Amino acid sequence: MMQTAAVELGVRLRLLTVDPDDAAAQVIPQTTVGHHTDLTALQLLAEGTAAVTFDHEHVPTEHLHALADAGHAVRPGPQALVHAQDKLVMRRRLTDLGLPCPRWAAVHDAAELTAFGDEVGWPVVLKTSRGGYDGKGVRVVAGADDAADWLERSAGSPLLAEEKVAYRRELAALVARSPSGQAAAWPVVESIQVDGVCDEVIAPAPGLDDDTAGEATTVALRVAGELGVTGVLAVELFETDQGRVLVNELAMRPHNSGHWTIDGSVTSQFEQHLRAVLDLPLGVTTPRARWTVMVNVLGGQYEDLYRSYLHVMARDPGVKVHLYGKAVRPGRKVGHVTVYGEDLDDVRARARHAADFIRGVIDE
Ligand code: ADP
Repeated sequence: MMQTAAVELGVRLRLLTVDPDDAAAQVIPQTTVGHHTDLTALQLLAEGTAAVTFDHEHVPTEHLHALADAGHAVRPGPQALVHAQDKLVMRRRLTDLGLPCPRWAAVHDAAELTAFGDEVGWPVVLKTSRGGYDGKGVRVVAGADDAADWLERSAGSPLLAEEKVAYRRELAALVARSPSGQAAAWPVVESIQVDGVCDEVIAPAPGLDDDTAGEATTVALRVAGELGVTGVLAVELFETDQGRVLVNELAMRPHNSGHWTIDGSVTSQFEQHLRAVLDLPLGVTTPRARWTVMVNVLGGQYEDLYRSYLHVMARDPGVKVHLYGKAVRPGRKVGHVTVYGEDLDDVRARARHAADFIRGVIDE
């Protein structure tokens, strides 16, 4: 999705990917197949580029330091990105900055986990510090016995234990920051998860009072500034019944909670990310309509989405369909749909119908 923006900005992308069939490789002519953990491959990629950036967090931090030390513009830089790679590093830093987090502890063994759970109340949310995504690497445990396998496997490197927040809903605050320090924020959105995977995003978050929206945006801009983030930063938040926000996690790249901006905002997160990492002036983030709803299309019963895609376009010409060119596997994110307009119920219903129909959950 960054390529669409790159074409319009006149920016040439160069891609390193492990899989020659992956979605980005299908649309970026200058693609190299190689591994993001291979320093030589990374060095070859970086040679002669204006900036190096990412669409996932899995490039080893030490490789990023090596690229930065060799003079490449790594954006976001490793000192910032490590907070999106390692949840314990993130919790420590945000707590030091006084930013609102769930109560948490680094736990090495059953005794430490039990002590934490007894203090904050069970169940406890246990997370691997690195490598998790879409709810993998997150587990709700009722006692230390439920975590025996993880504690054994983690072999000395601590796990992150968090109080289980009784949140009202999940929000995301999306901002961008450039190396010269310019920043821009989109409206705070509500993100609805199903089985740990983002299902739907509503922009702006319905009924969110101005104070909470302001606090969420302030938190995100502070994170961006204090950590020296360059590019897009998504801050996933919990909204509590007391009208507070707590930071769940950070992503330093265009994020699923910002896909709505492609159709729903004057500047999309992909365009903004490129502008930011290249230190170009940022674009305005004004929404195109009162409401924008994005629903993810997960792999379902149809292997070939063409018929259902055709039907959705014919039924509702206002639906914007985005397919990623990925092989359809059950539960895999293979695309998304976006609808925007003035009536939230109508916009939500149309987006939901389109996504469910493409996937094959409904057939009329
Ligand atoms: P991932 O890195 O896999 O996205 P997250 O840390 O975002 O993992 O957690 C996945 C989901 O688990 C969250 O979207 C939220 O629904 C739930 N969750 C995570 N942390 C907590 C918590 N402290 N309290 C309650 N629910 C949580």
